[in-house]
Amino acid sequence: MKFADLGLSDELLQSVLDAGYDTPTAIQAQAIPSVLMMRDIIGIAQTGTGKTASFVLPMIDILAHGRRRALMPRSLILEPTRELAAQVAENFEKYGKNHDLKMALLIGGVQMGDQVKALQDGVDVLIATPGRLMDLFERGKIMLNGCSLLVIDEADRMLDMGFIPDIETICSKLPPNRQTLLFSATMPPVIKKLADKFLSNPKYIEVARPASNNSNIAQHKIHVSTRGKREALRHLLRTDNVSTAIIFANRKTTVRELAKSLQQSGFSAGEIHGDMDQNARNAELQKFKDGAISILVASDVAARGLDVKGVSHVFNYDTPWHPDDYVHRIGRTGRAGASGRAFTFVTSEDAEAIANVEKLTGMSIPVFTLEGAEAAPAAREDAAPRESGRRERAPRGEKAPRKERAPKAAAAEPVVEREEAPVREARAPRIQRDEPRPPKDVLTELPSKPGEWNGPVPGFLSVSAL
Ligand code: AMP
Repeated sequence: MKFADLGLSDELLQSVLDAGYDTPTAIQAQAIPSVLMMRDIIGIAQTGTGKTASFVLPMIDILAHGRRRALMPRSLILEPTRELAAQVAENFEKYGKNHDLKMALLIGGVQMGDQVKALQDGVDVLIATPGRLMDLFERGKIMLNGCSLLVIDEADRMLDMGFIPDIETICSKLPPNRQTLLFSATMPPVIKKLADKFLSNPKYIEVARPASNNSNIAQHKIHVSTRGKREALRHLLRTDNVSTAIIFANRKTTVRELAKSLQQSGFSAGEIHGDMDQNARNAELQKFKDGAISILVASDVAARGLDVKGVSHVFNYDTPWHPDDYVHRIGRTGRAGASGRAFTFVTSEDAEAIANVEKLTGMSIPVFTLEGAEAAPAAREDAAPRESGRRERAPRGEKAPRKERAPKAAAAEPVVEREEAPVREARAPRIQRDEPRPPKDVLTELPSKPGEWNGPVPGFLSVSAL
């Protein structure tokens, strides 16, 4: 199967070819013809499968005909994080270069003025995070009744971040006869319910999960003590042919401390986590993409879905508390046909977490035994009494194995900072959102601060001709 067989226009095929692709991925081959035939789609696919182009490409051809109107975007793509929204915008720029389409990026952390102006001029494609979209909608700056195509991307991630109520509200404001495309790496009951409510006779497409089925990723777990982790990591970084690596930790403090310690050990490391402002996150990510640093220590929220080419290694410095995060983390390597290696550190306290990962991925992750003098004592420490320092305990609301969540102890525990508080049920309280919604009077007077982030590609923030 070639892209030319999918029913896309010649102009679009040319830009796909210019981007270096001639063979569609599985999700693209299955989704593109159906989207062009205006069907609703449920795509069970995660980043790394080429899913972005599976909706961006047909959307460009669908939107090629029609007229823009002020304040009434013709299509809407909802993304859980600003970084993912920016990545989708990059895709539109790349593939839409031969089309006269305009897009706007509506994300938190940037001033609203340019975004409102973009909407007033009329856009074909609006890419938004739910919080910022709701703010503008509630202030009457945007009308959604002209929006005939909706994409809900990374729906399970939206659920984790507490966005489902916002998405339901947004769906109810769009015309009922619109086309809806929903993508999710997993299909928890809340997402299934959302799909049942807002999609009409969808085509269900499921593609292989890179985590469990991507043979390009060699996965290993390493038994190690909490105290021995840093040494084990340094050992692997030095000996496992690492060219570029993303190292995931469960807490922001760990991300910060680990990045610092790696730098002190002479590694070219940076960090990305939710406490950094958008400017700093973008700068660090760019350094990693440009090769100025070869190691990025990251938290889940900051790094979810990021598409960085040629990452040779993923390290789970902490076993993720939620198995979905494992899938997303290791999907940063072994992308688009390349091979990669993923190592997961497992302490004696991670037994339940790693068992959940193995249940989800349907495989027993092979044990990797560290060789070398530095690593061996670290692994043996597992049998030693627990160190007296700060215990790795999950703070309130965190994804932790149930046994760690004794209600009384949790209440007495100081709230340790965390990247996000995942919410597994639609009605659970939202703990942290991508862009906290300030009160309306603050919004109207949102200052234009010099140096405020202006997006990964500044042109995105105002309407740009594609
Ligand atoms: P995504 O799953 O959308 O995050 O895409 C993952 C990566 O696959 C991106 O770097 C895309 O540029 C790349 N990609 C998209 N379509 C194709 C294709 N047909 N063949 C090879 N790589 C692709």
